Amino acid sequence: MAGSMIVPTFVGNGCISYEPRPIPTLEAPDDVVVRIEACGICGTDLNILAVPPAHKATPGIIIGHEGVGIVEQFGSDVSGLQVGDRVVIANRLTCGRCIYCRRGLDNQCTNYQTIGTTVDGAFAPYLRAPARALWTIDSAVPRDDAALFEPLACAVGSIKRATFQAGDNVAIIGAGPMGLLFALMYRAMGAGKIIVIDLAPFRLEFARTLGLDEALNAAEVDSADKVKQLTGTGADIVVDAVGNQLAQAIALARRGGQIILFGLRPHDSPPINQYTITRYDLTVHGTFVGLHPFAQTIQLLESGRVQPSVLVTDRLPLGELERGVEMMRTQQAMKVLIDMEL
Ligand SMILES: [Zn+2]
Ligand SMILES: [Zn+2]
Repeated sequence: MAGSMIVPTFVGNGCISYEPRPIPTLEAPDDVVVRIEACGICGTDLNILAVPPAHKATPGIIIGHEGVGIVEQFGSDVSGLQVGDRVVIANRLTCGRCIYCRRGLDNQCTNYQTIGTTVDGAFAPYLRAPARALWTIDSAVPRDDAALFEPLACAVGSIKRATFQAGDNVAIIGAGPMGLLFALMYRAMGAGKIIVIDLAPFRLEFARTLGLDEALNAAEVDSADKVKQLTGTGADIVVDAVGNQLAQAIALARRGGQIILFGLRPHDSPPINQYTITRYDLTVHGTFVGLHPFAQTIQLLESGRVQPSVLVTDRLPLGELERGVEMMRTQQAMKVLIDMEL
């Protein structure tokens, strides 16, 4: 295993630089070394590489958290893993000691590290990670479905916040990779109509290829009117996968409906009409990355009932990470995977 690898490291100010790094080896007894097969580019990576940054990352680290790979080595304290197992990454390293961890709300841990933002991530041929961050997945699951484990887990964990009944009509604002993962999930769960809304023609065209009921361009139609027309009352459940669309979400929901706020736009303060929430008995759920979604997400991927790789439009070698980021940023691609086997 000795040797070095050339990896993109995060410099800061939107820049990465390709540098040699030693191939990681076991340090702690609970460490695992994983040979990465593929790693998805996430909206979080776009935010880290934005100028000014819209998401924090520690300069000098390797980013990337949507990784799938094969166990190469593990430390003496690790049990339940074999060399050769395929694993996916649950990237949040919670402390287990803060009051939120102790209350079981580990997505609210006040003392967390994250693989790919504060410690080295998976845009690299090899990753060292503690065993608790890794989940084994059946090798029969296609590699590129497994690569989307982390974003799918975010959808799985967020969806459970809003009571759902088969047949519910769902409107999703934002037809990027996350919005479409919500759509695939709701379709698998037996939703009634699924309507996605965006401004980007590429994304709407892509959504249409998935066979969703409607893909509305909010620049061309009044989406509230249209959703009302399609559903009779407004959507039973509205998902904001953008992060600043609460006012629009309120307009799309039926009386008594529910809204899931998933997107993250920390600097936006959209004006909203609180009266409407009160008058029409709306329920608004804020959800952050989902609480305890991992076991079910593995089971779901192993069932094959949701195949998130349908969102992958491009596969690029590690040396073209910046090009992949640009393709997603300019919305010429839906989901880009960095493929370590290219
Ligand atoms: Zn992600
Ligand atoms: Zn904690």
